[in-house]
Amino acid sequence: IPKIIKVLTHERDESQVKYERPSLCPVCQSELLDEGVLLKCQNLECEARVVNSIIYFASKACLNIDGLGNKIVETLFASGLVKSVIDLFGLTLEQLLSLEGFKEKKSQNILNSLENAKGSEYWRFVNSLGIEHVGEVASKSLSEVFGSSFIDASKEEIVLVDGIGEEMAESILEFVRVNREIILNLEAVLKPMKPLKRVEAQDNPFKGRVVVLTGTMSESRGVIKELLESFGAKVSGSVSKKTDYLIYGEDAGSKYDKAINLGVECLTEIDMKNKIK
Ligand SMILES: [Zn+2]
Repeated sequence: IPKIIKVLTHERDESQVKYERPSLCPVCQSELLDEGVLLKCQNLECEARVVNSIIYFASKACLNIDGLGNKIVETLFASGLVKSVIDLFGLTLEQLLSLEGFKEKKSQNILNSLENAKGSEYWRFVNSLGIEHVGEVASKSLSEVFGSSFIDASKEEIVLVDGIGEEMAESILEFVRVNREIILNLEAVLKPMKPLKRVEAQDNPFKGRVVVLTGTMSESRGVIKELLESFGAKVSGSVSKKTDYLIYGEDAGSKYDKAINLGVECLTEIDMKNKIK
């Protein structure tokens, strides 16, 4: 399902006529997400993308709303009853029955499915928004790390989340900037389950630090990762300039070499446990 509306594409070729790159969507005037070749409107209520955004919203990996297929969404939009996702939740039986081809049973089923979409898992809510580049996996990570405060996360905080890079972070920030009110209103209507908030760790040397694990330790990587996370560390998969500590076990390989090269502090498992004490 395309959730991208290509507003303007042109080759960057100096021999061609130069265009003024628009910064605003020609349809809704909201500021565009500039991704080099593509400019994308991020406004959830933009007419140019609203039908697709509703179809995506209702799809299986999102809120899984039975009965809201393409044709029905198009009919609802054309009727003027649904101008954006949130309008779905204000639909009444009378309104649906007034549309051609909407019998009582079908209409009631749609209303029931919409009701059932409330209280979903939080990541489904995030996924359903259709943020550019953000799919199921990233929605789950965002939900786990930030819960409903993902809309207040900074770029620095977002790129620390496993599997989320610069481009995705930019896209999240732009999406939230344009759609903040809509997200809050939708959340108030849908009441998705809040993921459990991670308990704030007390001050310790690992709190808020980026840690990478490598080599064989006395316990599995997963156990050590959980231990460190309970102390507020962010455990990352690869060594970079952002890494604060590398914790290494036996047979540490390239990550160890890279950490040494970058001047990252390297600790053995015992060093780590001593620091925690
Ligand atoms: Zn637009």
